[in-house]
Amino acid sequence: MRLALIHIAQETNDFNPLPTTLADYEAFGLVEGEEIARQFREIGQIGGHYAAVKDSGLDIETIPIIRAFAVAGGRISREAFDFFQAKIRAGLEMAGPIDGLVLQLHGACAAEGIDDVEGEQVELCRKILGPDVPILLGLDHHANVTHKIMANCTAIVGHRTQPHDVFDTGKVGTEVLLRILTEKSRPVMAWRKIPLLSHQEQFLTSKGPMKVWFDRARSIEADRRVLQASNYPMQPWLDVAEGGWSTIVVTDGDQALAEKLADELADLAWSMRDDFQVREAVSIDDAVRRADAAERGMVVVSDTGDTVFGGAAGDSNLLLESMLRLGIKSKALIPLISPKAVATLTEAGEGAEVTLPLGGDAATAFFKPLTVTGRVRKLGGGSIALNFNHQPEVDMGRVAVFDVGPVTLLISELRGVAGNVPDVYEAFGIDLSEYKMAVLKTASNFQYFDRLASGLVRADTSGPGQSDVFTLPWQRIPRPVYPLETISDWRAHSSQPGAGTR
Ligand SMILES: [Zn+2]
Repeated sequence: MRLALIHIAQETNDFNPLPTTLADYEAFGLVEGEEIARQFREIGQIGGHYAAVKDSGLDIETIPIIRAFAVAGGRISREAFDFFQAKIRAGLEMAGPIDGLVLQLHGACAAEGIDDVEGEQVELCRKILGPDVPILLGLDHHANVTHKIMANCTAIVGHRTQPHDVFDTGKVGTEVLLRILTEKSRPVMAWRKIPLLSHQEQFLTSKGPMKVWFDRARSIEADRRVLQASNYPMQPWLDVAEGGWSTIVVTDGDQALAEKLADELADLAWSMRDDFQVREAVSIDDAVRRADAAERGMVVVSDTGDTVFGGAAGDSNLLLESMLRLGIKSKALIPLISPKAVATLTEAGEGAEVTLPLGGDAATAFFKPLTVTGRVRKLGGGSIALNFNHQPEVDMGRVAVFDVGPVTLLISELRGVAGNVPDVYEAFGIDLSEYKMAVLKTASNFQYFDRLASGLVRADTSGPGQSDVFTLPWQRIPRPVYPLETISDWRAHSSQPGAGTR
Protein backbone atom coordinates (compact mmCIF):
# COMPACT_ATOMS: atom_id res chain seq x y z
CA MET A 1 0.00 0.00 0.00
CA ARG A 2 1.28 3.46 -0.89
CA LEU A 3 0.30 6.58 1.06
CA ALA A 4 1.35 10.13 0.26
CA LEU A 5 1.97 12.47 3.17
CA ILE A 6 1.66 16.27 3.30
CA HIS A 7 1.79 18.58 6.32
CA ILE A 8 1.37 22.33 5.77
CA ALA A 9 0.15 24.54 8.61
CA GLN A 10 -0.20 28.11 9.73
CA GLU A 11 -2.92 29.75 11.83
CA THR A 12 -3.85 33.21 10.58
CA ASN A 13 -4.62 36.23 12.73
CA ASP A 14 -6.38 38.83 10.58
CA PHE A 15 -5.67 41.62 13.07
CA ASN A 16 -1.88 41.27 12.80
CA PRO A 17 -0.96 43.44 9.79
CA LEU A 18 2.39 41.71 9.12
CA PRO A 19 2.15 39.06 6.38
CA THR A 20 3.55 35.59 7.00
CA THR A 21 6.17 34.77 4.38
CA LEU A 22 8.12 31.70 3.35
CA ALA A 23 10.90 32.89 5.68
CA ASP A 24 8.51 32.33 8.61
CA TYR A 25 8.05 28.71 7.52
CA GLU A 26 11.78 28.31 7.05
CA ALA A 27 12.35 29.39 10.66
CA PHE A 28 10.44 26.27 11.73
CA GLY A 29 11.82 23.99 9.04
CA LEU A 30 10.41 23.76 5.54
CA VAL A 31 11.34 20.28 4.45
CA GLU A 32 10.64 18.11 1.40
CA GLY A 33 10.88 14.44 0.44
CA GLU A 34 12.71 11.82 2.48
CA GLU A 35 14.26 14.50 4.67
CA ILE A 36 10.82 14.82 6.29
CA ALA A 37 11.01 11.31 7.70
CA ARG A 38 14.55 11.87 8.87
CA GLN A 39 13.69 15.00 10.87
CA PHE A 40 10.12 14.36 11.99
CA ARG A 41 9.66 10.59 12.27
CA GLU A 42 9.20 10.85 16.04
CA ILE A 43 7.43 14.18 16.39
CA GLY A 44 4.28 16.07 15.44
CA GLN A 45 1.65 14.90 12.97
CA ILE A 46 4.35 13.31 10.82
CA GLY A 47 5.53 11.26 13.79
CA GLY A 48 1.95 10.22 14.52
CA HIS A 49 1.54 9.01 10.95
CA TYR A 50 4.65 6.85 11.11
CA ALA A 51 3.57 5.44 14.48
CA ALA A 52 0.17 4.42 13.05
CA VAL A 53 1.87 2.80 10.06
CA LYS A 54 4.17 0.83 12.33
CA ASP A 55 1.37 -0.22 14.69
CA SER A 56 -0.76 -1.44 11.78
CA GLY A 57 1.78 -4.10 10.88
CA LEU A 58 0.83 -3.55 7.24
CA ASP A 59 3.23 -3.25 4.35
CA ILE A 60 2.95 0.48 3.71
CA GLU A 61 5.20 2.74 1.72
CA THR A 62 4.94 6.40 2.73
CA ILE A 63 5.76 9.04 0.13
CA PRO A 64 6.50 12.20 2.13
CA ILE A 65 5.99 15.29 -0.03
CA ILE A 66 6.30 18.45 2.06
CA ARG A 67 6.27 19.52 5.69
CA ALA A 68 5.93 23.25 6.34
CA PHE A 69 4.91 24.87 9.61
CA ALA A 70 4.94 28.52 10.60
CA VAL A 71 3.92 29.97 13.94
CA ALA A 72 0.54 31.72 13.83
CA GLY A 73 0.63 35.19 12.29
CA GLY A 74 -0.81 37.55 9.71
CA ARG A 75 -2.21 36.31 6.40
CA ILE A 76 0.28 34.26 4.42
CA SER A 77 1.76 35.97 1.39
CA ARG A 78 0.47 35.17 -2.07
CA GLU A 79 3.96 33.94 -2.86
CA ALA A 80 3.79 31.40 -0.02
CA PHE A 81 0.32 30.29 -1.10
CA ASP A 82 1.45 29.77 -4.70
CA PHE A 83 4.60 28.02 -3.54
CA PHE A 84 2.59 25.43 -1.59
CA GLN A 85 0.12 24.90 -4.43
CA ALA A 86 3.04 24.20 -6.77
CA LYS A 87 4.69 21.82 -4.28
CA ILE A 88 1.44 19.92 -3.70
CA ARG A 89 0.86 19.58 -7.44
CA ALA A 90 4.39 18.49 -8.29
CA GLY A 91 4.61 16.15 -5.29
CA LEU A 92 1.35 14.33 -6.01
CA GLU A 93 2.07 14.09 -9.72
CA MET A 94 5.50 12.63 -9.05
CA ALA A 95 4.25 10.24 -6.38
CA GLY A 96 2.70 7.94 -8.98
CA PRO A 97 -0.33 5.80 -8.10
CA ILE A 98 -1.23 6.01 -4.41
CA ASP A 99 -3.89 4.30 -2.32
CA GLY A 100 -4.56 7.29 -0.09
CA LEU A 101 -3.40 10.74 0.93
CA VAL A 102 -2.71 11.88 4.46
CA LEU A 103 -3.18 15.64 4.33
CA GLN A 104 -2.40 17.35 7.62
CA LEU A 105 -3.33 21.05 7.43
CA HIS A 106 -4.42 23.67 9.96
CA GLY A 107 -7.82 24.88 8.78
CA ALA A 108 -7.58 28.49 9.91
CA CYS A 109 -5.12 29.76 7.32
CA ALA A 110 -5.91 32.72 5.09
CA ALA A 111 -3.70 34.27 2.42
CA GLU A 112 -3.59 37.67 0.79
CA GLY A 113 -6.85 37.74 -1.16
CA ILE A 114 -7.78 34.14 -0.21
CA ASP A 115 -9.98 33.39 2.81
CA ASP A 116 -9.94 29.62 2.59
CA VAL A 117 -6.39 28.41 1.98
CA GLU A 118 -7.08 24.85 3.11
CA GLY A 119 -10.19 24.66 0.91
CA GLU A 120 -7.99 25.52 -2.08
CA GLN A 121 -5.36 23.00 -1.03
CA VAL A 122 -7.80 20.14 -0.55
CA GLU A 123 -9.54 20.97 -3.81
CA LEU A 124 -6.22 20.88 -5.65
CA CYS A 125 -5.41 17.46 -4.18
CA ARG A 126 -8.82 16.14 -5.22
CA LYS A 127 -8.40 17.47 -8.75
CA ILE A 128 -5.05 15.72 -9.12
CA LEU A 129 -6.04 12.46 -7.46
CA GLY A 130 -9.51 12.15 -8.95
CA PRO A 131 -12.67 11.11 -7.13
CA ASP A 132 -11.64 7.66 -5.91
CA VAL A 133 -8.46 8.10 -3.88
CA PRO A 134 -9.34 8.67 -0.21
CA ILE A 135 -8.08 11.96 1.22
CA LEU A 136 -7.78 11.95 4.99
CA LEU A 137 -7.68 15.51 6.25
CA GLY A 138 -6.25 16.37 9.66
CA LEU A 139 -7.11 19.77 11.10
CA ASP A 140 -6.34 21.87 14.12
CA HIS A 141 -9.64 22.11 15.97
CA HIS A 142 -9.41 25.92 15.82
CA ALA A 143 -10.05 25.51 12.09
CA ASN A 144 -12.73 27.25 10.09
CA VAL A 145 -14.47 24.42 8.26
CA THR A 146 -15.78 25.47 4.83
CA HIS A 147 -17.88 24.06 2.02
CA LYS A 148 -14.80 23.61 -0.14
CA ILE A 149 -13.02 21.61 2.55
CA MET A 150 -16.01 19.36 3.09
CA ALA A 151 -16.63 18.80 -0.61
CA ASN A 152 -13.12 17.62 -1.41
CA CYS A 153 -11.98 15.23 1.30
CA THR A 154 -13.09 11.77 2.38
CA ALA A 155 -12.86 12.04 6.16
CA ILE A 156 -11.66 14.62 8.68
CA VAL A 157 -10.02 14.34 12.07
CA GLY A 158 -9.31 17.24 14.43
CA HIS A 159 -7.14 17.77 17.48
CA ARG A 160 -8.78 16.14 20.48
CA THR A 161 -7.28 18.40 23.12
CA GLN A 162 -6.20 21.95 23.85
CA PRO A 163 -3.25 22.19 24.40
CA HIS A 164 -2.93 20.24 21.19
CA ASP A 165 -1.50 16.77 20.93
CA VAL A 166 -0.36 17.02 17.32
CA PHE A 167 1.22 13.57 17.38
CA ASP A 168 -2.17 12.14 18.38
CA THR A 169 -3.88 13.87 15.45
CA GLY A 170 -1.34 12.44 13.05
CA LYS A 171 -1.79 8.97 14.49
CA VAL A 172 -5.59 9.03 14.60
CA GLY A 173 -5.75 10.44 11.07
CA THR A 174 -3.69 7.65 9.55
CA GLU A 175 -5.57 5.05 11.62
CA VAL A 176 -8.88 6.31 10.18
CA LEU A 177 -7.44 6.23 6.67
CA LEU A 178 -6.19 2.67 7.16
CA ARG A 179 -9.61 1.69 8.44
CA ILE A 180 -11.13 3.10 5.26
CA LEU A 181 -8.61 1.28 3.09
CA THR A 182 -8.49 -2.09 4.83
CA GLU A 183 -12.01 -2.51 6.19
CA LYS A 184 -13.59 -1.10 3.05
CA SER A 185 -15.68 1.23 5.16
CA ARG A 186 -17.66 3.86 3.26
CA PRO A 187 -17.13 7.11 5.13
CA VAL A 188 -19.92 9.68 4.98
CA MET A 189 -19.77 13.04 6.71
CA ALA A 190 -22.25 15.45 8.20
CA TRP A 191 -21.33 18.87 9.49
CA ARG A 192 -22.97 21.85 11.07
CA LYS A 193 -21.80 25.43 10.94
CA ILE A 194 -22.59 27.25 14.17
CA PRO A 195 -22.76 31.08 14.08
CA LEU A 196 -20.64 31.44 17.20
CA LEU A 197 -17.40 33.11 18.29
CA SER A 198 -15.62 33.34 21.60
CA HIS A 199 -12.29 34.46 23.04
CA GLN A 200 -9.78 31.78 24.10
CA GLU A 201 -10.14 31.99 27.87
CA GLN A 202 -12.43 28.95 27.94
CA PHE A 203 -10.59 27.01 25.25
CA LEU A 204 -8.82 24.43 27.43
CA THR A 205 -10.45 21.02 26.93
CA SER A 206 -9.57 19.92 30.46
CA LYS A 207 -12.27 22.01 32.12
CA GLY A 208 -15.41 24.04 31.67
CA PRO A 209 -17.72 23.97 28.66
CA MET A 210 -15.01 22.90 26.22
CA LYS A 211 -14.47 19.73 28.23
CA VAL A 212 -18.19 18.97 28.12
CA TRP A 213 -18.32 19.50 24.37
CA PHE A 214 -15.18 17.49 23.56
CA ASP A 215 -16.07 14.68 25.99
CA ARG A 216 -19.37 14.28 24.14
CA ALA A 217 -17.50 13.84 20.86
CA ARG A 218 -15.40 11.11 22.46
CA SER A 219 -18.46 9.30 23.79
CA ILE A 220 -20.07 9.47 20.34
CA GLU A 221 -17.00 7.75 18.92
CA ALA A 222 -17.56 4.80 21.21
CA ASP A 223 -20.13 3.67 18.63
CA ARG A 224 -18.23 1.48 16.16
CA ARG A 225 -20.26 2.96 13.28
CA VAL A 226 -18.71 6.37 14.01
CA LEU A 227 -15.26 6.82 12.47
CA GLN A 228 -14.71 10.27 13.96
CA ALA A 229 -16.52 13.11 15.70
CA SER A 230 -14.70 16.41 15.88
CA ASN A 231 -15.57 19.87 17.16
CA TYR A 232 -14.14 23.11 15.78
CA PRO A 233 -14.30 26.16 18.05
CA MET A 234 -12.73 28.45 15.45
CA GLN A 235 -9.85 30.55 16.76
CA PRO A 236 -11.30 34.00 17.39
CA TRP A 237 -9.11 36.21 15.20
CA LEU A 238 -9.95 34.88 11.76
CA ASP A 239 -12.07 37.34 9.79
CA VAL A 240 -13.20 35.33 6.78
CA ALA A 241 -16.28 34.87 4.64
CA GLU A 242 -17.36 31.52 6.09
CA GLY A 243 -16.05 32.13 9.61
CA GLY A 244 -17.64 30.44 12.61
CA TRP A 245 -17.62 27.29 14.74
CA SER A 246 -18.38 23.84 13.32
CA THR A 247 -18.77 20.21 14.17
CA ILE A 248 -18.20 17.20 11.91
CA VAL A 249 -19.27 13.58 12.29
CA VAL A 250 -17.92 10.82 10.04
CA THR A 251 -19.73 7.49 10.03
CA ASP A 252 -19.35 4.26 8.13
CA GLY A 253 -22.05 4.57 5.51
CA ASP A 254 -24.79 5.86 7.80
CA GLN A 255 -25.64 9.38 6.65
CA ALA A 256 -28.72 9.68 8.85
CA LEU A 257 -26.71 8.80 11.94
CA ALA A 258 -24.01 11.31 11.01
CA GLU A 259 -26.65 14.02 10.55
CA LYS A 260 -28.30 13.25 13.87
CA LEU A 261 -25.02 13.27 15.79
CA ALA A 262 -23.80 16.47 14.13
CA ASP A 263 -27.05 18.12 15.15
CA GLU A 264 -26.58 16.87 18.68
CA LEU A 265 -23.04 18.26 18.94
CA ALA A 266 -24.08 21.62 17.47
CA ASP A 267 -27.04 21.88 19.85
CA LEU A 268 -24.76 21.11 22.79
CA ALA A 269 -22.29 23.86 21.86
CA TRP A 270 -25.11 26.32 21.36
CA SER A 271 -26.62 25.48 24.74
CA MET A 272 -23.30 26.48 26.34
CA ARG A 273 -22.74 29.62 24.23
CA ASP A 274 -22.70 31.91 27.27
CA ASP A 275 -20.39 29.61 29.25
CA PHE A 276 -17.81 29.97 26.47
CA GLN A 277 -17.92 33.75 26.89
CA VAL A 278 -16.97 33.79 30.60
CA ARG A 279 -13.93 35.99 31.18
CA GLU A 280 -11.19 35.25 33.71
CA ALA A 281 -8.72 37.99 32.81
CA VAL A 282 -8.08 40.85 35.23
CA SER A 283 -6.82 44.34 34.47
CA ILE A 284 -3.15 44.67 33.52
CA ASP A 285 -2.16 46.39 36.77
CA ASP A 286 -4.08 43.86 38.87
CA ALA A 287 -2.39 41.00 37.05
CA VAL A 288 1.05 42.50 37.71
CA ARG A 289 0.28 43.25 41.38
CA ARG A 290 -1.10 39.78 41.93
CA ALA A 291 1.94 38.08 40.40
CA ASP A 292 4.34 40.36 42.29
CA ALA A 293 2.58 39.63 45.59
CA ALA A 294 2.46 35.86 45.12
CA GLU A 295 4.17 33.94 47.90
CA ARG A 296 6.33 32.04 45.51
CA GLY A 297 7.17 32.09 41.85
CA MET A 298 6.99 31.58 39.06
CA VAL A 299 3.62 33.07 38.22
CA VAL A 300 2.68 32.87 34.57
CA VAL A 301 1.13 36.12 33.33
CA SER A 302 -0.83 35.47 30.14
CA ASP A 303 -0.61 38.33 27.65
CA THR A 304 -3.68 37.23 25.71
CA GLY A 305 -3.86 40.32 23.50
CA ASP A 306 -0.36 39.70 22.18
CA THR A 307 -0.55 35.91 21.91
CA VAL A 308 2.17 34.88 19.49
CA PHE A 309 0.71 31.35 19.45
CA GLY A 310 -2.54 33.01 18.35
CA GLY A 311 -0.89 35.00 15.61
CA ALA A 312 -0.15 38.31 17.30
CA ALA A 313 3.10 40.08 16.45
CA GLY A 314 4.71 39.85 19.91
CA ASP A 315 5.36 43.59 20.07
CA SER A 316 3.19 44.56 23.05
CA ASN A 317 4.78 46.65 25.80
CA LEU A 318 1.66 46.97 27.97
CA LEU A 319 2.81 44.62 30.73
CA LEU A 320 6.34 46.08 30.63
CA GLU A 321 4.92 49.57 31.08
CA SER A 322 2.80 48.45 34.01
CA MET A 323 5.66 46.62 35.76
CA LEU A 324 7.99 49.61 35.49
CA ARG A 325 5.34 52.14 36.53
CA LEU A 326 4.20 50.05 39.50
CA GLY A 327 7.83 49.42 40.56
CA ILE A 328 7.54 45.65 41.03
CA LYS A 329 9.64 44.19 43.83
CA SER A 330 10.44 40.88 42.17
CA LYS A 331 12.00 39.98 38.83
CA ALA A 332 10.04 39.36 35.66
CA LEU A 333 10.64 37.85 32.23
CA ILE A 334 9.09 39.32 29.10
CA PRO A 335 9.63 38.29 25.48
CA LEU A 336 9.44 40.95 22.78
CA ILE A 337 9.69 40.67 19.02
CA SER A 338 11.52 43.61 17.49
CA PRO A 339 14.10 43.37 14.69
CA LYS A 340 14.73 47.09 15.10
CA ALA A 341 15.57 46.88 18.81
CA VAL A 342 17.76 43.81 18.25
CA ALA A 343 19.74 45.77 15.67
CA THR A 344 20.25 48.71 18.05
CA LEU A 345 21.23 46.51 20.98
CA THR A 346 23.54 44.34 18.88
CA GLU A 347 25.35 47.41 17.66
CA ALA A 348 25.71 48.69 21.24
CA GLY A 349 27.23 45.38 22.35
CA GLU A 350 27.10 43.27 25.50
CA GLY A 351 27.37 45.30 28.68
CA ALA A 352 26.27 48.57 27.07
CA GLU A 353 23.66 50.82 28.65
CA VAL A 354 21.09 51.78 26.04
CA THR A 355 18.04 54.05 25.94
CA LEU A 356 15.61 53.12 23.17
CA PRO A 357 11.93 52.86 22.28
CA LEU A 358 10.46 49.37 22.71
CA GLY A 359 7.26 47.82 21.39
CA GLY A 360 4.63 48.84 18.88
CA ASP A 361 6.70 47.81 15.85
CA ALA A 362 3.94 45.94 14.06
CA ALA A 363 0.51 46.13 15.69
CA THR A 364 0.56 49.92 15.73
CA ALA A 365 -3.21 50.12 16.13
CA PHE A 366 -2.76 48.62 19.59
CA PHE A 367 0.69 49.62 20.92
CA LYS A 368 2.83 52.78 21.02
CA PRO A 369 6.60 52.63 21.61
CA LEU A 370 7.78 53.02 25.22
CA THR A 371 11.21 54.56 25.83
CA VAL A 372 13.27 52.69 28.43
CA THR A 373 16.87 52.50 29.60
CA GLY A 374 18.57 49.19 30.31
CA ARG A 375 21.71 47.12 29.91
CA VAL A 376 22.51 44.53 27.26
CA ARG A 377 23.22 41.31 29.12
CA LYS A 378 23.76 38.91 26.24
CA LEU A 379 23.62 38.73 22.45
CA GLY A 380 23.17 35.65 20.30
CA GLY A 381 20.50 33.82 18.39
CA GLY A 382 20.02 31.41 15.54
CA SER A 383 18.58 27.94 15.92
CA ILE A 384 17.64 27.03 19.47
CA ALA A 385 17.07 23.45 20.62
CA LEU A 386 13.89 23.06 22.64
CA ASN A 387 11.42 20.64 24.09
CA PHE A 388 8.45 21.54 21.93
CA ASN A 389 5.75 19.33 20.48
CA HIS A 390 6.17 20.47 16.88
CA GLN A 391 9.88 20.08 16.39
CA PRO A 392 13.26 19.83 18.07
CA GLU A 393 14.54 23.32 17.26
CA VAL A 394 13.44 26.76 16.11
CA ASP A 395 15.19 29.76 14.61
CA MET A 396 14.51 32.95 16.59
CA GLY A 397 16.80 35.11 14.45
CA ARG A 398 19.20 37.36 16.36
CA VAL A 399 18.40 37.70 20.06
CA ALA A 400 19.29 40.28 22.72
CA VAL A 401 18.81 39.74 26.44
CA PHE A 402 18.16 43.22 27.83
CA ASP A 403 17.69 44.09 31.52
CA VAL A 404 15.45 47.05 32.32
CA GLY A 405 15.31 47.40 36.09
CA PRO A 406 13.59 44.27 37.45
CA VAL A 407 12.52 43.11 33.99
CA THR A 408 14.59 40.86 31.75
CA LEU A 409 13.51 41.14 28.13
CA LEU A 410 14.28 38.46 25.60
CA ILE A 411 14.12 40.45 22.39
CA SER A 412 14.23 38.49 19.14
CA GLU A 413 14.06 39.23 15.43
CA LEU A 414 11.74 36.33 14.62
CA ARG A 415 8.69 35.32 16.62
CA GLY A 416 9.60 31.64 16.92
CA VAL A 417 8.03 30.46 20.17
CA ALA A 418 8.49 33.91 21.79
CA GLY A 419 9.09 33.20 25.49
CA ASN A 420 6.48 30.44 25.66
CA VAL A 421 9.03 27.66 26.06
CA PRO A 422 11.50 28.16 28.96
CA ASP A 423 14.31 26.45 27.06
CA VAL A 424 14.64 29.67 25.06
CA TYR A 425 15.64 31.61 28.19
CA GLU A 426 17.90 28.81 29.37
CA ALA A 427 19.67 28.82 26.00
CA PHE A 428 20.90 32.31 26.92
CA GLY A 429 22.07 31.31 30.38
CA ILE A 430 19.18 32.93 32.22
CA ASP A 431 18.64 31.39 35.67
CA LEU A 432 14.86 31.01 35.82
CA SER A 433 14.86 30.39 39.57
CA GLU A 434 15.61 34.11 40.07
CA TYR A 435 12.29 35.13 38.53
CA LYS A 436 8.93 35.57 40.18
CA MET A 437 6.87 36.03 37.04
CA ALA A 438 7.00 35.21 33.35
CA VAL A 439 4.89 36.86 30.69
CA LEU A 440 3.69 34.26 28.19
CA LYS A 441 2.46 35.24 24.76
CA THR A 442 -0.36 32.70 24.66
CA ALA A 443 -3.90 32.32 25.96
CA SER A 444 -3.82 28.53 26.28
CA ASN A 445 -0.38 26.99 25.86
CA PHE A 446 1.09 27.28 29.32
CA GLN A 447 2.16 23.63 29.44
CA TYR A 448 5.83 24.24 28.68
CA PHE A 449 6.13 26.19 31.94
CA ASP A 450 4.43 23.48 34.01
CA ARG A 451 7.74 22.41 35.55
CA LEU A 452 8.28 25.98 36.85
CA ALA A 453 4.89 27.61 37.28
CA SER A 454 3.23 28.18 40.65
CA GLY A 455 0.15 29.92 39.26
CA LEU A 456 -1.51 31.64 36.35
CA VAL A 457 -2.92 35.15 35.98
CA ARG A 458 -4.64 36.21 32.78
CA ALA A 459 -4.06 39.87 31.98
CA ASP A 460 -6.79 41.61 30.02
CA THR A 461 -4.45 43.09 27.43
CA SER A 462 -5.49 44.57 24.12
CA GLY A 463 -3.91 43.49 20.86
CA PRO A 464 -4.55 41.30 17.82
CA GLY A 465 -5.40 38.37 20.12
CA GLN A 466 -7.44 40.22 22.70
CA SER A 467 -10.28 38.56 24.59
CA ASP A 468 -12.53 41.52 23.83
CA VAL A 469 -13.83 40.20 20.53
CA PHE A 470 -16.50 42.90 20.42
CA THR A 471 -14.16 45.77 19.49
CA LEU A 472 -11.98 43.96 16.95
CA PRO A 473 -12.47 45.47 13.47
CA TRP A 474 -14.46 42.58 11.94
CA GLN A 475 -15.23 42.98 8.24
CA ARG A 476 -15.77 39.62 6.59
CA ILE A 477 -17.25 37.20 9.11
CA PRO A 478 -20.89 36.32 8.36
CA ARG A 479 -23.31 38.30 10.49
CA PRO A 480 -25.17 37.88 12.66
CA VAL A 481 -22.80 35.87 14.82
CA TYR A 482 -23.08 35.30 18.55
CA PRO A 483 -22.12 37.17 20.74
CA LEU A 484 -21.48 40.13 18.39
CA GLU A 485 -25.22 39.94 17.82
CA THR A 486 -27.78 38.38 20.12
CA ILE A 487 -29.45 35.50 18.34
CA SER A 488 -31.39 32.67 19.89
CA ASP A 489 -31.66 30.08 17.10
CA TRP A 490 -28.38 28.94 15.54
CA ARG A 491 -30.13 27.11 12.70
CA ALA A 492 -31.78 30.30 11.48
CA HIS A 493 -28.39 31.92 10.94
CA SER A 494 -26.13 29.03 10.01
CA SER A 495 -24.20 29.57 6.75
CA GLN A 496 -24.66 25.87 6.11
CA PRO A 497 -26.02 23.23 7.21
CA GLY A 498 -25.52 20.63 4.59
CA ALA A 499 -24.21 17.16 4.19
CA GLY A 500 -20.84 16.47 2.68
CA THR A 501 -20.92 13.01 1.19
CA ARG A 502 -18.45 11.21 -0.89
ZN1 LIG B 1 -5.23 25.42 17.57
